[in-house]
Amino acid sequence: MHILIVGAGLAGVTAAWYLRAAGHTVTVIDRNAGPALETSFANGGQISISHPEPWANPGAPLTVLKWLGRNDAPLLFRWPAEAARIAWGLQFLRECLPHRTRRNTLAIANLAAYSGVQLRALREATDIHYNSLSRGVLHLYFAKENYLHGEAQQRVLSQLGIGSRMLTPSQCVDTEPSLAHVETRLVGGMFGTEDESGDAQRFVTELAGRCRDAGVEFLYDTSAENFLRDERHIGGLKVLRGGRHETLLADRYVIAAGSYSTPLMRPLGERLPIYPVKGYSTTLSLRNPQRAPAVSLTDESRRIVCSRLGDSLRIAGTAELNGYNTDLDPERCAALLRWAEDVFPGVCDTAEPNYWAGLRPTTPSNLPIIGRSKFDNLFYNTGHGTLGWTLAAGSAHALADIIDGRQPAINYPFTGRA
Ligand SMILES: Cc1cc2nc3c(=O)[nH]c(=O)nc-3n(C[C@H](O)[C@H](O)[C@H](O)COP(=O)(O)OP(=O)(O)OC[C@H]3O[C@@H](n4cnc5c(N)ncnc54)[C@H](O)[C@@H]3O)c2cc1C
Repeated sequence: MHILIVGAGLAGVTAAWYLRAAGHTVTVIDRNAGPALETSFANGGQISISHPEPWANPGAPLTVLKWLGRNDAPLLFRWPAEAARIAWGLQFLRECLPHRTRRNTLAIANLAAYSGVQLRALREATDIHYNSLSRGVLHLYFAKENYLHGEAQQRVLSQLGIGSRMLTPSQCVDTEPSLAHVETRLVGGMFGTEDESGDAQRFVTELAGRCRDAGVEFLYDTSAENFLRDERHIGGLKVLRGGRHETLLADRYVIAAGSYSTPLMRPLGERLPIYPVKGYSTTLSLRNPQRAPAVSLTDESRRIVCSRLGDSLRIAGTAELNGYNTDLDPERCAALLRWAEDVFPGVCDTAEPNYWAGLRPTTPSNLPIIGRSKFDNLFYNTGHGTLGWTLAAGSAHALADIIDGRQPAINYPFTGRA
């Protein structure tokens, strides 16, 4: 079968890998000049299996209210809002109901644990290197209320069989000695023992290389414009390539276009509930590598993550609902740098902060959309939101199973299935 994938980010390239491994002829198109140049470019680097709790949870509405009007708030809803943002916000509120949060947490946990297994297998099979570290993720709590929430989360993780344990401040420092400077301010931590970290862009670039070696065709500088279709079947994809319009034909089509999956599908009458949620990162080279963390960290009080990527530290966070805008807000950039100086003073070279912003393709439930669309030969692997790196390998493996008519080996609400 010939399969055409739109998007060469984490979702598209991992899908290409598994579909090629299953024996298909695969073409990947992307409007950029290479792979992973949009949201998969400079994310927080965490494979965070220990964080299945979605943003939409019973505590979220109050937290968001408390942050309203603060330009440096971890989650910022910019006004005035267009209709899509308001509709998404209302759906988000519905997902905050306790029973929906429980259902969503379980689905994400299943997919995350499965993804961890698939990622390890893929790494072994390909021997690709992307500054990966299998040292866990340490969640840090600087406020009592966050710690108590963490304890409740850890109980859920135990019930789900996900490796984790609560730590005292001194145990946090034993786990990651570079935290000594903040030990007295810490209330405690939670250690996700199965978590990992690594450079997503490097992973995608290396994997795209392996895919190409295995016969996958990549067409860059190629924009998907619109699909040729009848009632229930896609007959081709019109693209703009090198300034010329062409029609690409395939047996199956996969949408892995991140936040842009929504506008791409709208003309087909498919309303994907994906909103672009902007996040920021800074990548700092290390002045004092021996004093920098090797364990990946999540500051649960300020909603900032930090991962060691070779000789640099990636610090990422903040969520901003402001359409498809990727401009860098100086105040939000400065908050990341302040965090680095506060927790690891003198460790990073802050002269060249390498700021970046990307759009998380986020559904109100935080559940990615994986599976068949209403068209018999069009499939989704999109909407991975805050966890696209964590969930990449499992999502793509499951998608390849679905396309081949196999039941994926996990319990997850895939689309288009009874
Ligand atoms: C600040 C930040 C920190 C994050 N930290 C983490 C983390 O620590 N752990 C984690 O698990 N996840 C994290 N994420 C989330 C993760 O990065 C995303 O979920 C993931 O990158 C999404 O991958 P994707 O392939 O779906 O989208 P993308 O990487 O955006 O890929 C989509 C591709 O589609 C292409 N495209 C779009 N439209 C078209 C078109 N019409 N024609 C052709 N090509 C098109 C784009 O060029 C792009 O290359 C973070 C995200 C952000 C923003």
